[in-house]
Amino acid sequence: MPDSRPQPPRFPPSPSVPADSATLLLCGARLTDGRTVDVRLGGGRIEAVGTPGSLATGAVGARVDLRGYLLLPAPVEPHAHCDTALSADGTGDTRGSGGDGPEPPHPEEVHPEEVQRRATEAALLQLGHGATALRSHVRIGDGPGLDALAAVLRARRSLRGLAELTAVAMPGRLTGGAGADGLAMLRDAVKMGATVVGGCPDADPDPTGYVEAVLQIASEFGCPVDLHTDARDPVRLSRLAAMAGGLRPGVTLGPCGGLGRLPAGTAARLADRLAAAQVTVVCLPQGGCGGVGRRGTAPVRLLRSAGVRVAAGSGALRDPANPVGRGDPLEAAYLLASRYGLPAEDAYDMVSAAARAALGLPEVRVEAGFPAELLAVRADGLAGALSLAYSRVVIHRGRLVARTSAVREYCDSAAVALELPRQGRAEPS
Ligand SMILES: [Zn+2]
Repeated sequence: MPDSRPQPPRFPPSPSVPADSATLLLCGARLTDGRTVDVRLGGGRIEAVGTPGSLATGAVGARVDLRGYLLLPAPVEPHAHCDTALSADGTGDTRGSGGDGPEPPHPEEVHPEEVQRRATEAALLQLGHGATALRSHVRIGDGPGLDALAAVLRARRSLRGLAELTAVAMPGRLTGGAGADGLAMLRDAVKMGATVVGGCPDADPDPTGYVEAVLQIASEFGCPVDLHTDARDPVRLSRLAAMAGGLRPGVTLGPCGGLGRLPAGTAARLADRLAAAQVTVVCLPQGGCGGVGRRGTAPVRLLRSAGVRVAAGSGALRDPANPVGRGDPLEAAYLLASRYGLPAEDAYDMVSAAARAALGLPEVRVEAGFPAELLAVRADGLAGALSLAYSRVVIHRGRLVARTSAVREYCDSAAVALELPRQGRAEPS
């Protein structure tokens, strides 16, 4: 397997040609419907899909051989924590158990250059997995102030053309005397460039007041809302759903792991309320982003059958909340299929189409006219891609931005072992 750190590209970019104006021809890719096609990209979009050999590349065309690859709409990461990513010290320490989001190892010591470097590296790592857009929660307030957010926004700028990184401002306390500073800082965060308002209402002494404050600021600035909650308190969740109902551009909640620990009837009633309020739930099948006491995945099948929009993200990426977090959308989809029995198509939809919708991004299909946000995985079908997906090619805005190539070699005896059953000469067991 390749080093997890982003490596310098081995495919030369074409600096004289703006990324969006170059033409790229993807050759011989398989689609989920079984067709094998060529796909021409240009202007950041899919220009044409045709039978192999039927499409011209145009004047500045390059081509990528995708024989043996399955071509998919790229996944996105709807729940990252870029400010704390890659900060685990490797001891297996799972701090953050006191809240619903990860605590920085030393909140009073935020080094902006360090946060920017880790945020950039984390986003590139997730881009290598296929996520061409990421939404990252970023703590503001006591400790980080606005420094961590400023660092993540600098990372966002440096990643332009590679991946779309957006920031959710995650304030501390918003109610009572101590809340005034938090409210002022949240407004400053949105003016700085945080495009989503978030936070952890359950960590405030007045959770309802906290949600009111967040919804107020979101409607002031026309921002979406993306709140952390474990959803373990039925009364609180029910109230939150009632407050969120009708708000545009919409409310997202995550990771809601506690919902799965409630009695079935209670969880079902809450699922109906979330559906009625058109709330989106982002679950985190890899373990969440809080401490070990908050592990567990939202009841995905129950929520989906109630009509709740459910997407899946990765949460902690090698930070103190999960020192082994991988940040791989295909792993989230694998877990949804493997542990919760979702069909591979539904599991992948939760990290791609549903996750894109949660982020307010336009739909992607492998058809002419759609955005050229694509992931090619070396596999013969979607189940195979979720089972093992080492080799990947990632396209953002019509440009090849990351490629992972894995080679596995066996000794000669393996070839003989494979050959014997084929020839009908396998030894009886
Ligand atoms: Zn989180």
